[in-house]
Amino acid sequence: MTTQKYFPHVNGKMFAENVALSNIAKQVGTPFYCYSNTAISQNFKDYQQAFSTALTNQETLICYAVKANGNQAVLSTLAKLGSGADVVSMGEIRRARAAGIPANKIVYSGVAKVEPEIEYALNEGIFQFNIESEPELELISQVATRLNKIAAIAFRINPDVCANTHAKISTGKAENKFGVPISKARQAYNRAASLPNIKVQGVDVHIGSQLTQLTPFEEAYKRIAQLVIDLRSDGHDINVVDIGGGLGITYNDEVIPAKEDYAAIAKKQLGHLNCKIVVEPGRSLLGNAGILVSSVVYVKTGEERQFLILDVGMNDLIRPSMYDAFHEIIAVDISKTALKTYDIVGPVCETGDTFAKGRQVHESQSGDLIAIMSCGAYGAVMASTYNTRMLAPEIMVKDTDFAIVRPRPNYDEVINADIVPSWV
Ligand SMILES: *Cc1c(COP(=O)(O)O)cnc(C)c1O
Repeated sequence: MTTQKYFPHVNGKMFAENVALSNIAKQVGTPFYCYSNTAISQNFKDYQQAFSTALTNQETLICYAVKANGNQAVLSTLAKLGSGADVVSMGEIRRARAAGIPANKIVYSGVAKVEPEIEYALNEGIFQFNIESEPELELISQVATRLNKIAAIAFRINPDVCANTHAKISTGKAENKFGVPISKARQAYNRAASLPNIKVQGVDVHIGSQLTQLTPFEEAYKRIAQLVIDLRSDGHDINVVDIGGGLGITYNDEVIPAKEDYAAIAKKQLGHLNCKIVVEPGRSLLGNAGILVSSVVYVKTGEERQFLILDVGMNDLIRPSMYDAFHEIIAVDISKTALKTYDIVGPVCETGDTFAKGRQVHESQSGDLIAIMSCGAYGAVMASTYNTRMLAPEIMVKDTDFAIVRPRPNYDEVINADIVPSWV
């Protein structure tokens, strides 16, 4: 079992910081996402500390990857601690700016930036475009020229290293759609330098997500360091290295390298270049800072197995069905019963709507609360209303306070969003 420091059981009842989950459930109903503000803040401060300590002589900037969890309360928390943002759409730029993240701390990644997005980013004055292809470079130059702005750019380099993670979240192999192959990088930078309204300033790399080893990072950074040297000898003024995100979290029994060791790798491989180092963590800031709380609807005895049927489904948390992801599942009240083995499923009409098979949970009955752990990243942001289920509300807790940071929508809002044409 992972240590759930910010979601402890006290006298057999689970809390988020110092708020009983049963209390929140009583007031907002289930299911709901619940985030620990203290956990988010502490994770961010740990990154800041690790990188500023390892890279004492260099500027470092932590740009939180907004796609992991874009709630305004989350972004505001991080903005106040000095975070920048790694964004992948105009929507995420807007979210980051609305939460008070300065434009000059925003890096813009993504393989398919469209013209209005590029225009918006240029008008905001973001810190850097992380360009993923030569056609994108050409378009950014055209838009910047039309607006009479300068686009500061890095290329996202695909270093062709194996991240040893799930195939759907591996991004740094030659076969992945992301980035410019390292073998074509010098040519791409030369092209960039020749285009109007483009300022070449950095190199970017992001090899995947949920990495549990440092070796792939080290291998990637080694290749990037050599590239920076080559680019400088080609006459480019490279002064930023964006090392991406991707450090994993403990969902089950994964042993995750310390942030200090991750920072030490960055220093070892990149420290001599004297560049500003940008880090883009998402999952490792939010993942273990959030949970998803649901109620048992029915306990169903099948021919071979016992099913715990929850009021939360794959539409609320898609990671188990999309990535075969493991999430720890714990009864909120463990004071009265012993462990029992269940298949834990949701209400959605898909066999894939299964959170766990043959999992031990304290014996539960209809109405009992069940917590799905480590859902703070890639949880609520990936939710949908499939089966016309309302999006689960999001709650933030800090010490003894809790607040609804996104309410549960009502049925009218959702149904009235559709329009029936007069000719139907
Ligand atoms: C998703 C993503 C991140 C964040 O990845 P995590 O694994 O959540 O840390 C960082 N940078 C880019 C370019 C991404 O696409």
